[in-house]
Amino acid sequence: MKLEELLRFLAREITGACGNITDYDQVSRWPKGQLEELMKLGVIIEAPPGSTAVCRKCGEDCCVEPTIVTYPDNRTVGLFSCGQDGHSIELSMEHFKRWEVLPDKLAELGYEPPTKDEELTNEEAAELLGGGISAATISKWVKSGLIKENGRSGRQHRVLKSSVLLLKDKREKEQKIEEAKDFIKVQNGKKKSRLIA
Ligand SMILES: [Zn+2]
Repeated sequence: MKLEELLRFLAREITGACGNITDYDQVSRWPKGQLEELMKLGVIIEAPPGSTAVCRKCGEDCCVEPTIVTYPDNRTVGLFSCGQDGHSIELSMEHFKRWEVLPDKLAELGYEPPTKDEELTNEEAAELLGGGISAATISKWVKSGLIKENGRSGRQHRVLKSSVLLLKDKREKEQKIEEAKDFIKVQNGKKKSRLIA
């Protein structure tokens, strides 16, 4: 995963259920050095540690809430017994680390969290566009990539309203240019006919 991809991923993630807090479990899957890069960019800051961790021993990724223990040699660890096989497991404190993603900083770098797009049927999109466009034309434009869709098929298929509105705006601008061209043609025609007369 490249850094831009990770930034895009984070912009999407912060709108999800876990909000803008990311934990060791997530961060440890990122390519080496990217957490440091993000911290340098100021996109991520360290947050207070959490009390839960993910157990990777049983292959079930069970969520555990370890007891924090400090050994006589001053080593502090989290101890838990896996919910699957009951084995006692020790986790270094690193596993409880959490980070906060700063949405403002992400936006500053051009990674806006996606706004929830409204979805329309082809018929609704045709009506919104106006100008005698049919639902079949919408379908054709989706295939050619002119209009974006929700990626589902059959009865779940919808087109994205934002994409339809963008196209509508573009078509209206083009229409105005055509009208202006026609106007100039008419004016020139009048001039010519005056010269002939
Ligand atoms: Zn486990």
